Amino acid sequence: MYFHIHSNAKSRRSYLLGFLSGIAVVTIAFGTYWFVKNRQTREATSTIVAPYYTQAVFQKPAGLISEKNASISAQTKIKLPVVMYHYIEYVKDAGDIIRKKLDINPFTFDKQLESLQIAGYTTYFVRDIPQLLQNPFELDNKKPVVLTFDDGYEDFYTDAFPILKKYDMKATIYLIYDFIGRKGYLTDKEIRELIDSGLVEVGDHTLDHVYLKLAPLSFARKQIFESKKMLEDKFGIKVDTFAYPYGAFSQDTINLVKEASFSAAVSVIPGVMQSGENLYYLYRIRPGMFGSDAARVLDRLNK
Ligand SMILES: [Zn+2]
Repeated sequence: MYFHIHSNAKSRRSYLLGFLSGIAVVTIAFGTYWFVKNRQTREATSTIVAPYYTQAVFQKPAGLISEKNASISAQTKIKLPVVMYHYIEYVKDAGDIIRKKLDINPFTFDKQLESLQIAGYTTYFVRDIPQLLQNPFELDNKKPVVLTFDDGYEDFYTDAFPILKKYDMKATIYLIYDFIGRKGYLTDKEIRELIDSGLVEVGDHTLDHVYLKLAPLSFARKQIFESKKMLEDKFGIKVDTFAYPYGAFSQDTINLVKEASFSAAVSVIPGVMQSGENLYYLYRIRPGMFGSDAARVLDRLNK
């Protein structure tokens, strides 16, 4: 009798033990899956947001060699605002400070484009800029503006593109080749549709959004040359312009970008007056300062 009870207790115990270790195995398996899955997402985004802008990138780096362009007059300086957008969306996570800082919500974006249209602005691609600097008279009686979108976030397709189409306005998007198709980023299919619309220029933003300033030259070369070739091969297009991730570049970076036969590159140095001198670090302004009335702000800027 005693033995019987003991045996029952023992089997109950081993049953319980089996049950608990079953739960443990499932928990560990799920936990591992969750961790790995989220690490991929974290890696995909954290690469970009971590050291986003340091103060230095807003200034022209010291020691740049003066740019000489046979086809562009040294005196030519034109007012050509290049606006730097990132996210166009209603940010769901209120705690996501970086995303909120880089975001213009779709309603405001719509109002900004409406104000530009009413004020008579004409949109151009970044790849048009060398030509416009060669023939500035093309801009007589025109107010030019260039809209750029960095990083290739998917909200460009879902939120920004419909509004661009509504106003028939052009934009240049800077894609990070290895991020295409990742969660939150544009897919091949979406990029194809953007290209086919004729409203979107695809520009290059490296293979995986690296900090190019001070990078070993062989590494920088691979990031600049390979991403251009991959984008061109994948989409059957010519990729003419480049954006420095984090706005970080040096004279070495510029030399590589030129050698890769890009015709222009954009920086994050603020300004609206462009010239042959800064063709490889075109100035850009941030739309956060616009409010809804982008035209009112752009009309007033003059340096
Ligand atoms: Zn970027």
